[in-house]
Amino acid sequence: MKRDLSLLRDHQFDAVVVGGGIHGATVFRQLAAAGLKIALIERNDFGSGTSANSLKILHSGLRYLQHLNFHRIRESIRSRKLFMAMAPHLIKPMPCIMPTYGLGLQGRPVMAIALTLFDLVGCDRNQGAPPANRAGRGRILSRRECLAIGPGIKAEGLTGAALWYDDMIVNTERMTLAFIKAAMRHDAVCANYLQADRIIIADREVRGVEVSDRLGNTAFAINAPLVINAAGPWLGEIQRRSRQLPTTEDLAKAVNIVVDRALFPGYGVGLAGSTDYVDRDAAFKRGKRLYFFAPWQNRTIIGTTYKYTAGQDTATIVTDEDIVEILREVNTIYPMARLTMEDVIFSHAGLVPAYRPTGSVRHSAAPQMVKHSKIIDHTRQDGIKGLLTIEGVKYTTAPAIAREVEQLLAAGGSADGTAAVGPRPHGFADRRLVEAYGRRFRHIEQVYGPDCVEIFRIIAADERSACYLRLDPPLLAAEVINAVREEMAVKLSDVVLRRTDSGTTGCPDRHDLRAIAGVMAGELGWDEPRIEREIAEVLAHYAGNLGLKRREENRESR
Ligand SMILES: Cc1cc2nc3c(=O)[nH]c(=O)nc-3n(C[C@H](O)[C@H](O)[C@H](O)COP(=O)(O)OP(=O)(O)OC[C@H]3O[C@@H](n4cnc5c(N)ncnc54)[C@H](O)[C@@H]3O)c2cc1C
Repeated sequence: MKRDLSLLRDHQFDAVVVGGGIHGATVFRQLAAAGLKIALIERNDFGSGTSANSLKILHSGLRYLQHLNFHRIRESIRSRKLFMAMAPHLIKPMPCIMPTYGLGLQGRPVMAIALTLFDLVGCDRNQGAPPANRAGRGRILSRRECLAIGPGIKAEGLTGAALWYDDMIVNTERMTLAFIKAAMRHDAVCANYLQADRIIIADREVRGVEVSDRLGNTAFAINAPLVINAAGPWLGEIQRRSRQLPTTEDLAKAVNIVVDRALFPGYGVGLAGSTDYVDRDAAFKRGKRLYFFAPWQNRTIIGTTYKYTAGQDTATIVTDEDIVEILREVNTIYPMARLTMEDVIFSHAGLVPAYRPTGSVRHSAAPQMVKHSKIIDHTRQDGIKGLLTIEGVKYTTAPAIAREVEQLLAAGGSADGTAAVGPRPHGFADRRLVEAYGRRFRHIEQVYGPDCVEIFRIIAADERSACYLRLDPPLLAAEVINAVREEMAVKLSDVVLRRTDSGTTGCPDRHDLRAIAGVMAGELGWDEPRIEREIAEVLAHYAGNLGLKRREENRESR
């Protein structure tokens, strides 16, 4: 997977996907597997937009029972199978609980019915899954069992808890990349740091995309009669530049924090917040906004809060106010946590589609989030032939949406979409490599799954690449070399944040960054000033994901 713009420049494709988030990546793979000559362009790095900022939960679909939305439950189940077929090593079933109180919607009887109904609707969810990925059945826990998981859960009126299984995507960045790499095995072409400036339309028909290279000074056209706009929160920006209609939805800023504490080891926990929330799509509309605690790498990701952004503003800066708001809520609903700013090691913020608020409501009310992903066919909507827009609302359902795009284009393909997905089986030579190195470098198979052989090949060719650049989490020089040679990493941030596990839970120190940059310099011919620039860029990224107070503390300690 090499970045070679000559493969895109003035070439004729069947389709171009704009945006390398999870929706772009899944549709790219789906259409490549269906035999289309397809290209994908991403203006930053693959998976660096909203898709890098999530609770990392593959929703089982249970929550959609409150909307009585069986279509969406089935969509989640279909997607889960596709994710599982693509990268089973990146998915871990996660037991989740929600405490039960009284006899209302949050009571044991209602929850018991919901769990039974969900088990019926999702009876095939483990079909074809390897044993490690099988999700258990939902059940009701006793009060004692619930308090054993969360001793600080409000005990007054507590009757027990509903337990069900969602899945944790251990590394969403590598999951997004897995779909892109799978498309490349079908001779698709892609490039990161290549921006779509304008969709070329003549006589109300799409002709391609004008693009500019953000790493050089070139601009050129990619020709295709079909463009799929999967630019996430930036969809409208491209449409406006292409003189299309702006999207009808507004955006809301969504924020999670990562704390350096395992609050509920091994369990996801949903606790009702203190603020009222009206869900206009739910069968039972009024309730409390839910806070979810997801266990991740001995830490906890907590979220999500939502706020309207100003107009179509696409900036996502996490402020002290955002962090303090989450800490205050968590300490109210789970006082035992006693979280402070010092516990926060990182935050995630992204923009998600929300219903457009009316006038005065904009800044005061909790945003109403859009619940359904949409595929807009502009032939029908605006009479422009050859333009599809994907407005995705969940990481979870992206593969199912990609299948719908394929069906819309009547491009054929496998019956359930999973047949062409799965990881490549290892050949004899690859199996020998796994035998030779798998046990010695255990983390490699866990992080890279079947792609581990790419790294073992590098080690076999040069044992010096088996040296550790970091120990916790472990990182070999061969992983960095592989990221550059096989996974189109062109910046230090690509390797630290998205190709390897080295920076996913916090900023590596300067010494480690320098070691990683040193290996990249050997591959890419960087000089000393370039290395310094790359390190500064990574440090700035982490600083931007902490509140102002922590940013200042970090600056002082550096
Ligand atoms: C805090 C938070 C928590 C969340 N938690 C969950 C969760 O637990 N589970 C879940 O299922 N979902 C979750 N979501 C929702 C989920 O993350 C998003 O729905 C999903 O990632 C959106 O993917 P996307 O591909 O549509 O957008 P993006 O990931 O934003 O991808 C769009 C891409 O297009 C690129 N782009 C933009 N303009 C251009 C251009 N002109 N040219 C080329 N490329 C361009 C961008 O750089 C970007 O990479 C969460 C979201 C947030 C913000």
